Amino acid sequence: MRAMVLERPQTSLVLREQPIPRPAVGEILVDVSACGVCRTDLHVVDGELPHPKLPIVPGHEIVGRVAAMGPGVSGFAIGARVGVPWLGHTCGVCPYCRDHKENLCDAPRFTGYTRDGGYATHAVADANYCFRLPDGIGDAEAAPLLCAGLIGWRSYRMAGEGRDLGLYGFGAAAHILAQIARAQGRRVYAFTRGGDKAAQDFARALGAVWAGASEDTPSTPLDAAIIFAPVGALVPLALKAVKKGGRVVCGGIHMSDIPSFPYDILWEERQIVSVANLTRDDAREFLALAPNAAIKTEVTRYALEDANQTLADLRAGRLQGAAVLVP
Ligand SMILES: [Zn+2]
Ligand SMILES: [Zn+2]
Repeated sequence: MRAMVLERPQTSLVLREQPIPRPAVGEILVDVSACGVCRTDLHVVDGELPHPKLPIVPGHEIVGRVAAMGPGVSGFAIGARVGVPWLGHTCGVCPYCRDHKENLCDAPRFTGYTRDGGYATHAVADANYCFRLPDGIGDAEAAPLLCAGLIGWRSYRMAGEGRDLGLYGFGAAAHILAQIARAQGRRVYAFTRGGDKAAQDFARALGAVWAGASEDTPSTPLDAAIIFAPVGALVPLALKAVKKGGRVVCGGIHMSDIPSFPYDILWEERQIVSVANLTRDDAREFLALAPNAAIKTEVTRYALEDANQTLADLRAGRLQGAAVLVP
């Protein structure tokens, strides 16, 4: 198999030829047909997340076909299309797992971070954390659903039911959520880097009622805002944009420091919350809803060997929608 491997943080990925792994008990071997590239992958490569498995094959938005099954796997057939998300394994016995909060498990494993992921022609995954994908969407187009979609969905639910929703950072997750919000009759306000007209036009094309710079304030106070860009300075800006009782959801795994801010922008029961990981229930719920919302992901395909270029394009904000590696 071929894989793009991170040997040490803050270095480029290197192409490796290595033996195809054998699935152990409860695992499946996936013949990868597409793997989405997520901002979290940048945080892994940059060394911003502690204790990655090294060397590591990044990538946690994997779409492929079941090529082999280890002992004890049920519910999958050889050749079936399958999706592998960020949540790779949970312990099942810690207080969080027992309390239906497996996203907060004390001993989790994460695809592309603490177990090898999908920047490869093949990947092994715990079958209990893999999902069948809806029909009618291509492999590359389905890949971004597995993190941008799933964790985006968890963030969206956390934002509550209000009509006016701000999205800070209009990348892979926001472009999916904007479609769900529109299907549900909500109004999306898209905040981008100042002067990023292409991203603002993209947001409007997906139904945003307002698009502007993160420093701008729309005339309508927001019910809630979700921040996807890893920029702590957006937290006080978003707090200023939400109305009394409004909520600011931080949807990313890593963020630069949040600057200090006056208490009066938090006052009146505004809230700041973070979203961590996903549960399998989030995945089942979102994947069932995705076809009804007629979500169309906009993807840019890259060859597996071009993973470093893909990460550079994501970092520089040169992408519209989501990037997907195709082996
Ligand atoms: Zn646990
Ligand atoms: Zn991700």
